[in-house]
Amino acid sequence: MAARDAIKQYLKENARRFEEELCQLLRIPSVSTDPQYAGEVERAAQWLAEHFRSLGLDAQVHPTKGHPIVVARSPRVPEAPTVLVYGHYDVQPPDPLELWDSPPFEPTRRDGDLYARGATDDKGQMFTHVKAAEAWLKTTGSLPVNLIFLIEGEEEVGSAHLDPFLEEHQEELRCDCVVISDMCQFGPGQPAITYGLRGIVYYELRLQGPNRDLHSGTFGGAVTNPANVLVRLLASLVDEHGKVQVPGFYDDVKPISAEERQRLAMLPFSEEAFFQQLGVEGGSGERGFTTLERCWARPSFDINGLSAGYQGEGAKTIIPAQASAKFSFRLVPNQDPAKITAALEPFLREQLPPGVTMELKSYHGAKGVLVNDEHPYVKAAAEAISEAFGTAPVFIREGGSIPVVSTFQERFGVPVLLLGWGQNDDNTHSPNEKISLSDFHQGTRASAFLLEEIARLGSV
Ligand SMILES: [Zn+2]
Repeated sequence: MAARDAIKQYLKENARRFEEELCQLLRIPSVSTDPQYAGEVERAAQWLAEHFRSLGLDAQVHPTKGHPIVVARSPRVPEAPTVLVYGHYDVQPPDPLELWDSPPFEPTRRDGDLYARGATDDKGQMFTHVKAAEAWLKTTGSLPVNLIFLIEGEEEVGSAHLDPFLEEHQEELRCDCVVISDMCQFGPGQPAITYGLRGIVYYELRLQGPNRDLHSGTFGGAVTNPANVLVRLLASLVDEHGKVQVPGFYDDVKPISAEERQRLAMLPFSEEAFFQQLGVEGGSGERGFTTLERCWARPSFDINGLSAGYQGEGAKTIIPAQASAKFSFRLVPNQDPAKITAALEPFLREQLPPGVTMELKSYHGAKGVLVNDEHPYVKAAAEAISEAFGTAPVFIREGGSIPVVSTFQERFGVPVLLLGWGQNDDNTHSPNEKISLSDFHQGTRASAFLLEEIARLGSV
C-alpha cells in the first residue's frame, strides 16, 4: 500500500502538468482521413514516441503503408504479466469549424472540461495510461507489470494496417490482456466496464432501370421505376416492429440470459430522459425487449442514406433511371457478417421485377464482441475503478462497433478490458469535443491501480 499512497500523491502533485502535456498532443492536428494533414499525423506519432522515451520506455515509430504505429515498451520485469494498452493518436476532421466555441486544435478549459478535437477520442483517454506508467516509474522506479503501448494512427479511417502489423509482430506483442480506453462511462459519476460491443455490416444497394430518366406521363405504369423498387426492397428487410426479415438472420444470435436481463434492468436508466434529449416522444423496436437491450444486445437495421430521382425545387415528373441506398445491420455475437451477406443478396435479387438490375456492395464488416466478465482481470479492473472513482463500476454493453477489439481477441486470445473514461455528451466526432478533467485524472488513477491489481494476480 505504501506504493499506492506514493502514486496517489504523485498523480495529485503532477495533475496540472499532465493536462499541459495532453494539451501539447491535442495541438497537433493529426487528422488521419485528410492527406493534407499527413505531416501532422506523423508529427503526433513522433511526439508520442519522444514522450515515451522521456519516461524511460523503449519507443519506436513503425511506418506502415498508411500512418505509422507507435509501439513503446517498459523496462522488462521478469515473471510479471504483460499488459498491452491499445489506443489511437489520430483524430476525426474538426468540421464544421463554425460550430466550435473555441478552435479545435487550441485546447481550452471551460467548467472543468478540456475542449479540443481528440480530447476524449482518443488522445485524452489513451494518455491516462501513459501518465499511470509514469507515476509508477517516477515513484518506485519500476512498473509492476510489463507494459506495451500500441498506439495507432488510423483508427478513424478503419485501422487497415493494424491487423497485418499485429500478425507480423505477434511474438513481440504477446500479452496477458489488452486494455482499451476509447469509450464512455455509463454517466457522470457512474464509471463502467464495457463487456459487449455490437458488430456491423454495411451495404450500398444500387438499382438501374431505363437508360435515362423518363417522362412519367408517357412511360409511367409500364416501365419499372427503380425508386419504387428500392423502397419496396428496403421495406422488405424489416417488419414494422424492427424484426429483420432476411432468412436465417437470427440463427446465430446469442440470446440475452435471464441474469443479464435482470442486471441491465437494474441500471439507472431513464427511458423518458433518453428520448427527451433526442427531441422525440418515444421510440420503437423489436417487441419484447427494453430500449437498452435493443441498443446493446439485439441486432438492428437502419437505412443510412437514400438517393433517387429529382430533388430540386418544385415538381419534375420523371421515372428516375437509378436509385440507391446505403444501409447497415448492427450485429450481435455470434452473427457473422459474411453469412448475412450470403443470405441478403439472393433475398433482394429474388424480389426484383423485370426492368431493373441491382448491384449490392458490402463495405466494412465486424463481428460483435463479448468479454468474459467473470475473468479475474475484469474483477481487478472493477477493484481499481472503484478505488479511483470512489464508485463501483457498472457492467454495460455498447451498441457501436470497435473492430479492433475482435481483432485483438482473435489474434491473442486474451481478455480485452474496455475501460471508458469518456461521457456520452463528450461530442465525439462532433464540434466541441471535450473530456472532463476529473474523468481524465480518475482514469489515470484507475489505470495506475489496475497495473498493481494485475501484477498481484500474475498471468492467469
Ligand atoms: Zn476512438
